[in-house]
Amino acid sequence: MNNRVLLEVADLDVRYGGVQALRGLSITVGKGEIVALLGNNGAGKTTTLSAISGLVRATSGRIMLGGRDLTKATAPKVVAAGVVHVPEGRRIFSLLTVHENLQLGGHLVRDGRELRRRIDQVYELLPRLAERRGQQGGTLSGGEQQMLAIGRALVARPRLLMLDEPSMGLAPLVVTAVMDVIRDINAAGSAVLLVEQNAKAALKIAHRGYVIENGATVLHGTAAELAEDSRVVEAYLGGV
Ligand code: ATP
Repeated sequence: MNNRVLLEVADLDVRYGGVQALRGLSITVGKGEIVALLGNNGAGKTTTLSAISGLVRATSGRIMLGGRDLTKATAPKVVAAGVVHVPEGRRIFSLLTVHENLQLGGHLVRDGRELRRRIDQVYELLPRLAERRGQQGGTLSGGEQQMLAIGRALVARPRLLMLDEPSMGLAPLVVTAVMDVIRDINAAGSAVLLVEQNAKAALKIAHRGYVIENGATVLHGTAAELAEDSRVVEAYLGGV
């Protein structure tokens, strides 16, 4: 891999009371990469994103972003360092319009003109949102809400965009559209850490991937290697 490392997560342990959710988990994301995290329910994928975001505290291990130690950083500090997390379930503000939702994505952008420029770029990338800029978020379709959640994250211009199950509950054609947008975002300069149950869709756009089981990585490789690995095919790609 010739990418320089942007994110390095090393030997991470996370506990929720008596439950050990992560056990020495280690992953890296290179600058310019899309990295997929695959694994069954309860494997620790969401916990990994939450730990990176500063939403849960690791009991041991290290999280570095571009050489900076974020292991003990609070969630706002992690956002300020350039990490944006789009959690599962498209948490948009349903009573606010599409445009207002996008404005909130840029709450750290002080310059109003710069904010407008970024929102215009999101509208260019996601023209459907532009058509619906005055519509209340809660009245968008599921796919449109997912696009809005991603669009809102994009206004922040993250160095690292973390997406938790962006394909959840979407029709196959919409999943393809969402994955295309993720690829475009990556091409525009953000590294992406993508948690997906839909391994097929994720491995189509990812450069590399990890399989997580019981809070640790059990397999990693290029997306092509994983897509051909018999263990991945059997467990995550619907049999041989
Ligand atoms: P899914 O694909 O089902 O979302 P996941 O791989 O994202 O699963 P996590 O949500 O990270 O898995 O959960 C890892 C483990 O930690 C599970 O055993 C889960 O029950 C446990 N866990 C997660 N959050 C909490 C919590 N707030 N309190 C206690 N246990 C938790």
